[in-house]
Amino acid sequence: MEIEIATIGGYEEVGRQMTAVRAGDDVVIFDMGLNLSQVLIHDNVETERMHSLDLIDMGAIPDDRVMSDLEGDVKAIVPTHGHLDHIGAISKLAHRYNAPVVATPFTIELVKQQIEGEQKFGVENDLIKMDAGETMAIGDSGKVDLEFVNVTHSIIDAINPVLHTPEGAVVYGLDKRIDHTPVIGDPIDMDRFREIGREGNGVLAYIEDCTNASKKGRTPSERVAREHLRDVLYSLEDYDGGIVATTFSSHIARVKSLVEFADDIGRQPVLLGRSMEKYSGTAERLDFIDFPTDLGMFGHRKSVDRTFKRIMNEGKGDYLPVVTGHQGEPRAMLTRMARGETPYELDDGDKVVFSARVIPEPTNEGQRYQAEKLLGMQGARVYDDIHVSGHLNQEGHYEMLDALQPQHVIPAHQDMSGYSSYVNLCESEGYSMGRDLHVTRNGNLIQLVD
Ligand SMILES: [Zn+2]
Repeated sequence: MEIEIATIGGYEEVGRQMTAVRAGDDVVIFDMGLNLSQVLIHDNVETERMHSLDLIDMGAIPDDRVMSDLEGDVKAIVPTHGHLDHIGAISKLAHRYNAPVVATPFTIELVKQQIEGEQKFGVENDLIKMDAGETMAIGDSGKVDLEFVNVTHSIIDAINPVLHTPEGAVVYGLDKRIDHTPVIGDPIDMDRFREIGREGNGVLAYIEDCTNASKKGRTPSERVAREHLRDVLYSLEDYDGGIVATTFSSHIARVKSLVEFADDIGRQPVLLGRSMEKYSGTAERLDFIDFPTDLGMFGHRKSVDRTFKRIMNEGKGDYLPVVTGHQGEPRAMLTRMARGETPYELDDGDKVVFSARVIPEPTNEGQRYQAEKLLGMQGARVYDDIHVSGHLNQEGHYEMLDALQPQHVIPAHQDMSGYSSYVNLCESEGYSMGRDLHVTRNGNLIQLVD
């Protein structure tokens, strides 16, 4: 059976991920992501109203025109998890394919919300839920199957999809870390990866997320970030002024830890900001988490400001607002607080806890610097970097290569300079550039079996 891989987006950047795998006549697309930094760099861009071609020209969504060079029919569009760089272009591109979107329940719900917000295209692809551990047949040949393997990442319900073909498995490895003690959900299913590496014809190709390939050692478990956060918040138990925390709103495990520790130190947690309400509300509705019944979640500016007024009246010492704005995004809640644009007044010595790291990109670094400066001018003191990454470090990459023993490796989720560490790592394991290690760019086809 012919096996071909189209590396469509996310091979020259982190963002706008999209890869297609053809097995005979059947094609499966993995991820359709948005490169948000290419959008935010322009003022007042409303992607909801924009045409796909304009967004492609901006470099914001994958240029899927290479799909016309791929013979075969798309049978499924498979986003791996709910981060925008993996699902953010579905509302702009999926309607061009007569195929369902297949994903885990939390991811499907986020896709559904995004499609509902779309104002340019009518997106009518079926949305099919499939859980980790499950398999579905692809096409009519009876020879191609799609399997979801449970992985751990900085968002719940993440999987790595595996396309089983007569030539071996194609494993799409974006995004994960190896976490045996996640705060929500099951540990990564390394047993299944090892089985896939050894059953049938083994693994034909492994497409890997190279985000942290230059970092030595092992990515710590979410449990480490949780204990770090516990240590910081417990140390503030006797402080009776304001404490404000911020993290990735889609990082439900981290929000859970913040909510629990707020309660432990005698403060009422409250989630503020549009995306805080969106992700935590969705996770609660789908029963991924059981928040205290009286936990407030507010997204609209009016209800947020009303909450801040209540906090100021009743005493900042009784509350722990968990807000958006960990990257210093200009319109997020924490930045508005830092500018004095909300009723919440920061006083000398108040604490601001960043349970996130700055995404190493000049725009983020600049905005975060400004936000921290403004917070400092209000007298606030910052606790930084209470976080662990959602991506594999080097030892995790070695472990995956050992488990899967892939015949071919395709690095992804980076630009060319970001691949170099992973290339070295693969070469140390016996792979060779151009033979079985394929460093590529957006818009290329790699023929693995002809
Ligand atoms: Zn991700």
